Amino acid sequence: MADDVQTPKLREALRGIPAYRPGKIPDASTFKLSSNENPYPPLPGVLEKVQKSCETFNRYPDMGVARLCSEIASRFGVPVEHVATGTGSVGVAQQLLQATSGPGDEVVYAWRSFEAYPIITQISGATSVKVPLTPDERHDLDAMAEAVTDRTRLIFVCNPNNPTGAAIGREELTRFLDRVPGDVLVVIDEAYREFVRDPRIPDGVELYRDRPNVAVLRTFSKAYGLAGLRVGFAIAHEPVAEALRATAVPFGVNSVAQVAAVESLRAEEALLERCESLVQERTRVLEELRKQGWTVPDSEANFVWLRLGEDTMDFAAKAEVAGVVVRPFAGEGARITIGEVEANDIFLRVASEFRD
Ligand SMILES: *Cc1c(COP(=O)(O)O)cnc(C)c1O
Repeated sequence: MADDVQTPKLREALRGIPAYRPGKIPDASTFKLSSNENPYPPLPGVLEKVQKSCETFNRYPDMGVARLCSEIASRFGVPVEHVATGTGSVGVAQQLLQATSGPGDEVVYAWRSFEAYPIITQISGATSVKVPLTPDERHDLDAMAEAVTDRTRLIFVCNPNNPTGAAIGREELTRFLDRVPGDVLVVIDEAYREFVRDPRIPDGVELYRDRPNVAVLRTFSKAYGLAGLRVGFAIAHEPVAEALRATAVPFGVNSVAQVAAVESLRAEEALLERCESLVQERTRVLEELRKQGWTVPDSEANFVWLRLGEDTMDFAAKAEVAGVVVRPFAGEGARITIGEVEANDIFLRVASEFRD
C-alpha cells in the first residue's frame, strides 16, 4: 500500500486484541475434544422441528424471542421480564459489558478462565483485572473481592470454571456476593450447570433471586447440544435484563435457533439423560487418570484439566497423532472434553503412555 493511502481509524481499544482460538477443526479420522461440545447428534424430535422451521427462513425471526423467553421463564420459575437471549451466552456476556463497562472501567475475573473474557472486555474498552486461580485450580474469591475498586463495573464468576472444571461452593460464593458492592454487576457464568453433580455447588438462579446485581448466564451450546445454532440467555433483574434487550443485535437469535431451543427445553429429559452418561464418563476418566498417577482436579463440567506446564504442546501433539484433538494452553495445561467413549479411551491411552 502506498504511504499516502489512508486507512479507516479504528478504536485504540482494538489494538493487540488476543485472538480467540477456536477448537481445531479435525479431519474425519480424529475426534474433537477441544471445544466442550456435546458429542451426541441432535435429538430426532428436535431435528424434525428444526427442519420444518427451515421452510420459512425467508422471514425474519421473532425479534422479541417471545416463545423461547416464556419457556425459559416457566422452566426456571422466573418472571419473563428477567429473561434475555443472545447469540450464544458469549453474545449475552458481550452485551452485559456494553451495558456496564467502557474506557476507565475495570472488569474482574479469575485467570485462567474462559478465553472470551479478556477479548470481549478489551473490545468494550474497559481494563481486565485478572485474579490468579488458587494452586488447586479454583477461583480465589477473597482475592477477587479485594480486587474490586471504585472503577469495577462487572465481575465474571465462571462456575464451574473453564478450563479447570473446579466449582465454587454455596457458602463461599454467598460470602463473596455479600462482599461485592451492590452497584457492581456479578455475572455467574454457568455454561456447564447441567453437568454439576456436587450438591454443595449452588444454582445461580437461586442466588440471583434476592440480588439485583447478579446475572446468571446459561447456554444451549453445551448440554443441550445446539453449539452450531448460537443461542444463550441471561436471567437477571431489571434494569439489567432491560439493558440486555436494548443492546441486543436486532433479530440476532435466528428463527431456527429459537425453534431448536424451545424444542430442546421440551425434550429436556432426554437431553439430561445424555448429560448423565457424559457425567459417568467423566467419573471413569478421572478415576483412570488418577490410577495412572496424574494429579487432576475434580471436574463438575464436561471436560478435565491436566496441568502439564512445559509439556503441554508435546502432549497435545501426541494426542493428535493418536486421533484426538485436545485444547492446549501453552506452558499451562490441556483441557480435554469428555466425548465419545472411543475418544475418551484414546485420550486415556495417550495420557498413560505420556507418563511412561
Ligand atoms: C462454552 C462456554 C460458553 C458458551 O458459549 P456460547 O456462546 O453460549 O456458545 C460460555 N461460557 C463459558 C465459560 C463457556 O465455556
